[in-house]
Amino acid sequence: MEDCDFLFKIVLIGNAGVGKTCLVRRFTQGLFPPGQGATIGVDFMIKTVVVDGTKVKLQIWDTAGQERFRSITQSYYRSAHALVLTYDITNEETFTCLPDWLKEMETHAATDVPRVLVGNKLDLTSSRQVSRERAEEFANVHNLCYVETSAKEADNVEQLFLELASELTRNA
Ligand code: GDP
Ligand code: MG
Repeated sequence: MEDCDFLFKIVLIGNAGVGKTCLVRRFTQGLFPPGQGATIGVDFMIKTVVVDGTKVKLQIWDTAGQERFRSITQSYYRSAHALVLTYDITNEETFTCLPDWLKEMETHAATDVPRVLVGNKLDLTSSRQVSRERAEEFANVHNLCYVETSAKEADNVEQLFLELASELTRNA
């Protein structure tokens, strides 16, 4: 922390299997883990970035399977500076669950933190089940930014986290 100007806690949520862990590993380690289920057994991963000349440490929290049981607790959300809600564009059910996640976010997290909706697995557009227009409309209604990513192809993953870091730094 001594060598950084800011530390921000970014919290990822969304159904199991949407690619949260792959997004974190793509961003923090620059890799796409092979095989099924990339869950890591730690609470968060750290990456230091420089935005507008400012050194910023991002502490990115990833659920480790608890999403299946809806057992994510208050402590996970506590002091979060930003929330990233992820679904899988090739899986309708992960999109229709979003209102439940929003309800949970409203219960546990501060109301004024930036929220981003991420549609992941953009490399699988031929299997797309949720159109970009539908997702954008949902994001508008719920006051979320919207971005589509591919953890596999590294599309928009850097942008997602760097833009969040930049917004958080500007508002800090
Ligand atoms: P989590 O449960 O939300 O953490 O999801 P994981 O990161 O474990 O990913 C679940 C599955 O989706 C794994 O088999 C990944 O390889 C796959 N996956 C994750 N991101 C992508 C992506 O961007 N494109 C594709 N094609 N598969 C992905
Ligand atoms: Mg995971």
